[in-house]
Amino acid sequence: MSPRYADIIIDISHEAIDRTFQYRIPESLEGQIHVGSSVSIPFGRGNKLRQGYVVGVSDKASFDVTKMKDIQAVSDKGIAIEGSLIELAAYIKDTYGSTMINALKTVMPIKEKVKGLTRREVRLVLPKDEVMDKLALYQRKNAKAKYRLLNELKDELVIPYNLVTGKLNISSQTIASMVKENVIVLEEEGYYRDVFKNDSDAADENGLISGVKEHFEQPNEEQQAVISGIMNDYEKEDYGTYLLKGITGSGKTLVYIEIIDRIISMGRQAIVLIPEIALTYQTVKRFRKRFGDKVTIMNSRLSKGERYDQFERAKRGEVSVIIGPRSALFAPFPKLGLIVIDEEHETTYKSDYPPKYHAREVAVKRAQMSGASVILGSATPSVEAYYKAMIGEYRMFTLSKRAVDNAKLSEVKVVDMRDELKRGNRSIFSNHLKECISDRLAKGEQTMLFINRRGYAGFVSCRSCGYVFTCPHCDVSLTEHYPGTSREKLVCHYCGHEQKKPSVCPECGSKYIAGFGVGTEKVEEQVKKLFPDARVLRMDMDTTRKKDSHERILSDFANGKADILVGTQMIVKGHDFSDVTLVGVIAADTTLFDNDYRASEKTFDLLTQAAGRAGRGSKTGEVVIQTYRPEHYCIEAAAAQDYDKFYEDEKAYRSILMYPPFCHMMAVFVESGNEELTQELTDRLYERIMQSINENNQSEDEQQLNDGNVGSLRVIGPCEAGIYRLGDHYRRVIYAKHKDMQVLIGIKDDLERYMEMWDKETDCRVTFDIDPMKTY
Ligand code: ADP
Ligand code: ZN
Ligand code: ZN
Repeated sequence: MSPRYADIIIDISHEAIDRTFQYRIPESLEGQIHVGSSVSIPFGRGNKLRQGYVVGVSDKASFDVTKMKDIQAVSDKGIAIEGSLIELAAYIKDTYGSTMINALKTVMPIKEKVKGLTRREVRLVLPKDEVMDKLALYQRKNAKAKYRLLNELKDELVIPYNLVTGKLNISSQTIASMVKENVIVLEEEGYYRDVFKNDSDAADENGLISGVKEHFEQPNEEQQAVISGIMNDYEKEDYGTYLLKGITGSGKTLVYIEIIDRIISMGRQAIVLIPEIALTYQTVKRFRKRFGDKVTIMNSRLSKGERYDQFERAKRGEVSVIIGPRSALFAPFPKLGLIVIDEEHETTYKSDYPPKYHAREVAVKRAQMSGASVILGSATPSVEAYYKAMIGEYRMFTLSKRAVDNAKLSEVKVVDMRDELKRGNRSIFSNHLKECISDRLAKGEQTMLFINRRGYAGFVSCRSCGYVFTCPHCDVSLTEHYPGTSREKLVCHYCGHEQKKPSVCPECGSKYIAGFGVGTEKVEEQVKKLFPDARVLRMDMDTTRKKDSHERILSDFANGKADILVGTQMIVKGHDFSDVTLVGVIAADTTLFDNDYRASEKTFDLLTQAAGRAGRGSKTGEVVIQTYRPEHYCIEAAAAQDYDKFYEDEKAYRSILMYPPFCHMMAVFVESGNEELTQELTDRLYERIMQSINENNQSEDEQQLNDGNVGSLRVIGPCEAGIYRLGDHYRRVIYAKHKDMQVLIGIKDDLERYMEMWDKETDCRVTFDIDPMKTY
């Protein structure tokens, strides 16, 4: 047989070696090396052994064979990558800018094998027809323990060792003696780590994990229309991307479940992405009820071993549905048929670290590669997804009614807090909200109060001189926590810095230091003051640090152990409490004026999701939105629960200012501990962009050169990031905008090449963010 050669990506993250290296496949390894194999190879002058991934195999040597090294071995630690995921990695590398090895690592959330778990078992080996005689013998000899074990084994045949020594209370000597008598053997059996072991809801009320079909909810007419529409395409092998726009409570989950059920029966598998925060509670329970052991989860709370096992089960086709956050997108299913992205608008679907990929785009790509469909679900679609639906790139379905009988959308009232102030009400609650809360308390119904800031007060300042306490490491003010108690402190919510609250102003020595702005702690305190008999729970990052505290608060509230739940956005995402009839938004403007091109969209989403929490059961819900800007389009649209109105205004704003999705945008973000260097590098990158544009334009139409807009490319900056100093790092940014994403990718590639020439001794970090979900 003629020799074969493998193209290998070396597992070292360094731009300079971000290419494939060819190695010979030695005869001894012939047949064991495939695209995706994880191998060890000698690398560099010292022939140090390195890990690498095979991304191509061929019969042709690309350089002098006598100089080519051999692959040393197939790595026993690393995991092979599916061939199709390598292609996906290449897409991620090309689109979002990263080294190939980082892209490969992105598509393999599980990078190392984890030793399988085994369990000792006791197995009966005595022939069946001898069992009764043996039992009789044990009885005669008064060997009670042996009798007990054999008696159990005659029906069970195999019993876990720890049950034998535990519940059956049989000593290890007895077991050893029975092994000698050839009655039993001890065996080791491999098993998967159970990710639902702590899940008290695992078996539901009926003691069933996977229920009986008649007990399931039946889709209503609207839901059925969506299911049929998508399945009609599917059966014709017309796979597409669907936007399912359904108001809160319209029953999107049942639509996913029904469609998944059908594609499973076609022998295919499904990935369901949901925001991490919603992962542990109700949604998963509903999937388990329907699909039992065929469904598993992935999340950051699982141990390495647990995650490895779930991916192994997926690879072998032993599970059909995997539910998880962004990274579950790369589950190695053999016949992927569907990817669902629930709450598609959530910003967590965009990766925070390079490659800064968006799960929606990558899901669409992966689905295209595997012949699968994608369903994007949301009550408030991202402007990007809705735009694509409008131009026909996605097919859209709508759910316009709440699924539970009689449940209607809540009534929304907007309260102008400026008027409250004029009437002398300086409390954080408007009179209307106060009345509503006491009304619900009297009726025994539940209330949720939402404020998108944790802590007590937003910032602390001196009333005499105006001095504001800021973080020594960041350009942000410190948030006050638990004032007047032993836990009193000032905290930076960006870097975690904490300090004691001084008793006098460090500038003028005045004692008049006060907190301004409202956070969850203050709301909790004020509610308790106003309604001393009410049972109040608070949910924010500070009350959910302990393991499982998150679930406990939610289940306590669901079980009626509290009247009022105060919380940050954690409480508004996807939870379904049927006794909540009032939702109060304490300050709708908190996020509205952030320095962020998506501030309105974020605010609209939060308000709509918050409003969606009320009136989920049969009782009508009411929503009170407190604001200082009732005339802002996003608050008006949220109050009217009118997505289309919001979209129209937002579209106008973004298309005029050339923001995504009406234009592609790339942020070039530079960060380092050295202020001058950050500035120097950013300036050089800017010059480089300008230079390359001019070079490119030489060859193009003269006209384009003259119209000032350099071929419709816009470059903004360089400027300081919104928070210039963060954790003692200085941050600057350049934005480039163009209708054609390839132009931006071209600029990125050019800057990457330029960066290679730039002196690497500095700690400057440059990241590229294509279509960022925020303003830096
Ligand atoms: P969404 O995700 O669209 O906000 P959910 O999927 O959480 O809505 O469904 C809202 C509620 O409606 C849930 O309590 C669910 O059990 C119920 N539900 C959904 N579909 C039906 C149906 N066809 N019949 C009865 N109840 C339903
Ligand atoms: Zn002062
Ligand atoms: Zn800080």
